Amino acid sequence: MIAQVVPVLLAFGANLGDRGETISHAQEELAQTPGITGFQASPLRETIALTTEGPDPDAPRYLNGVALAQTTLSPHELLDVLQRIERRHGRVRDTQWGDRTLDIDLILYGGKVIADERLTVPHPRAHERDFVLSPWLDLDPNAVLMGHGRVTELLQRIGDTTLPLDDSGAYHGDGSFSGGEGNRDQATAPTGAAAPTGSASPAAPTGAAAPTANVRASQ
Ligand code: ADP
Ligand code: MG
Repeated sequence: MIAQVVPVLLAFGANLGDRGETISHAQEELAQTPGITGFQASPLRETIALTTEGPDPDAPRYLNGVALAQTTLSPHELLDVLQRIERRHGRVRDTQWGDRTLDIDLILYGGKVIADERLTVPHPRAHERDFVLSPWLDLDPNAVLMGHGRVTELLQRIGDTTLPLDDSGAYHGDGSFSGGEGNRDQATAPTGAAAPTGSASPAAPTGAAAPTANVRASQ
């Protein structure tokens, strides 16, 4: 049987240690993981820490970014990979939304809706997080978030507080590490990879990966 290839969107965050290097290494590991292809990372952006109490300007700032990829792994196999990489980078699970060396979230898995004890997909808070939407737009200006609509409009609604980085060291999925100038106005398609189009986006309603439902997962 031929495994189905599913487009996915992953989100990365780190606010402890050498944040850019941690995210770059994690992205390199993912790009080299069997069952993951076409890995394409956004430039990184810096953001104020979001805690359960709201934004905390006194907490160490985050670097955030997203990546598009294709996978033949199941959603739970992919989550296992993400959590293994988080653990390898010293992630300790304590406080919810607490400081962390590395957080990797699965935002979209094709058009699949998942709600079980380990996984909620689409990620239930992606539509209200500028640190997910903004780097996603850097990668794909036509991005559409399943169940919520065009990412440009979502970001306009919530406002973009993220700051582009001049020298993020973002991994671009082609073996090169280059500074991610996160300025969307000047940004061109990431090097070494085909320009992302709507059809490369996991939210794009194309083919087998088309969203099957506009259900918003409860969480
Ligand atoms: P958060 O990312 O909200 O800060 P954590 O990274 O501490 O939270 O993850 C807590 C749990 O969230 C994980 O054990 C994982 O099983 C679960 N989880 C549910 N949905 C997702 C998702 N879409 N991506 C990543 N983890 C998820
Ligand atoms: Mg997480």
